[in-house]
Amino acid sequence: METTTSTASSTNSGCAPTEPPPRPGILRRFVNLIDSDYFPQGADRVRELPERFEWSRAIPFLVLHLGCLGVIWTGWSWTAVAVAAVLYVVRMFAVTGIYHRYFCHRAYKTSRPVQFVFALLGLTAIQRGPLWWSAVHRHHHQHSDDEHDVHSPGWKGFLWSHVGWLTSSRNFPTDYSRVRDLAKFPELVFLNRFDLIGPILLFGFLYGTGALLAAYAPQLGTNAWQLVVWGFFISTVFLFHGTCAVNSFAHTLGTKRYDTGDESRNSFLLALITLGEGWHNNHHMHHSTARQGFFWWEIDISYYLLRGLAALGLVWDLRPVPASAYQVETRKTA
Ligand SMILES: [Zn+2]
Ligand SMILES: [Zn+2]
Repeated sequence: METTTSTASSTNSGCAPTEPPPRPGILRRFVNLIDSDYFPQGADRVRELPERFEWSRAIPFLVLHLGCLGVIWTGWSWTAVAVAAVLYVVRMFAVTGIYHRYFCHRAYKTSRPVQFVFALLGLTAIQRGPLWWSAVHRHHHQHSDDEHDVHSPGWKGFLWSHVGWLTSSRNFPTDYSRVRDLAKFPELVFLNRFDLIGPILLFGFLYGTGALLAAYAPQLGTNAWQLVVWGFFISTVFLFHGTCAVNSFAHTLGTKRYDTGDESRNSFLLALITLGEGWHNNHHMHHSTARQGFFWWEIDISYYLLRGLAALGLVWDLRPVPASAYQVETRKTA
């Protein structure tokens, strides 16, 4: 885009009449609109914008929360509540077991087709694409609780670390320099650019399933819009805040087993809510382990599910907890 502008201005320095650049066709404009990598001014310039709350980027999150009010009109049913709960667990696993432990930290291995399905499942969590997610999180580990950490509660305040940072345009572009290992796969780059595929699939699945159940299983007492309200809006809002809590609460409340040089904490309650991510101090000490609850009493549901997938042969080479992780505990109890 910048190249086009400079070429046009150099051409126009002569006597030729000024001609505006051709307006892109409607299809091109639509693709640009849904392309997370489209920045007319360049991604680098967007990254240099000031860190600030922006209403325009807060709108999707507001819509997500306001959509929950739809329950006033649709009511509830055990079917809808069960669908919301199952979707919460499946998609929390997609965030923690897949986006975090696989894409970001490469804590285990899998095949390329399963990697693609994992990425697609991750998109339905509505937390953007796997490359953006991983790039932001790798930056967090490099700058944990220093002034460059985009969501450090100590530096930026609790609310900013929980949701505010997501509204700042400078945090929107994917920093591909941090995810070169993932950018080798064009199918992952495609999903990362068009991450809107996730919410569209989820919405369509819920609306279609609800309509079918209303027509063929009316005894379940649900319908299309009720499943959308519970499965799409309510479940996703819980999932959103559960995930955000790892950036805010897990760097504020809890215990520290290891001196990691940052404010990461371990919390049993958060580990239950996030299927294992609450053992965040453990994780900051040893980033790349597939398991984050290092002891049997440190419940880590994502790890149990990964063990299940490994038993099925879908994933393998789960990185173990290093022996040194237990030496601190031994010293404490000695
Ligand atoms: Zn952290
Ligand atoms: Zn991590």
